[in-house]
Amino acid sequence: MALRINFADYKSSPLSCPACGWKGEGKDTCQNAGGTVMDLECPNCFKMLAIISFPTYQETLNRGSEADRQAALREINFREKFRRMSLKNPDELPDIEGSTISFTFRSVSIKGEDYSIIEHQEQEIWREPMVWEGYGRFLEIGRILKARYGARMVDLVPDETAETFLYGDWLQASDLITAFRQQLRV
Ligand SMILES: [Zn+2]
Repeated sequence: MALRINFADYKSSPLSCPACGWKGEGKDTCQNAGGTVMDLECPNCFKMLAIISFPTYQETLNRGSEADRQAALREINFREKFRRMSLKNPDELPDIEGSTISFTFRSVSIKGEDYSIIEHQEQEIWREPMVWEGYGRFLEIGRILKARYGARMVDLVPDETAETFLYGDWLQASDLITAFRQQLRV
């Protein structure tokens, strides 16, 4: 049975993966929001580690402080927007010509909203709301790109603007990202 974690606490909940030994916090996992629940997957092997129930509206209203309530509402709004705009499967990506394809992953702020942007030769090929602090989403997007472009895809380069989403545990993020990029080239 999957672990259940409170919505309010999930970002800092310590988790470990029984399948591959990954250890980290909730914010570093791959977060899949679907309706009223969200599940957290291991960013390394995609085993499902925990389930989170979103607070109901009433629970949100009953929350202690106004700041907590506002934060919860912002998070719920973000999840909804992310659910609509995030890359979910390889079919959503465009055809790209060429025998080797390298992508850049960067973060931009547009009218106060933060986005992750994937580019190929300075052409934007995908844009979605940026997930802060976790690196799971970087790896997840990388896998979807790989599924679409196969052996022709040789790199996904996080530029310096993308560091904001890698803050979690820097060493671990850096190791997982380096390992992922090396795998692309073999
Ligand atoms: Zn794992």
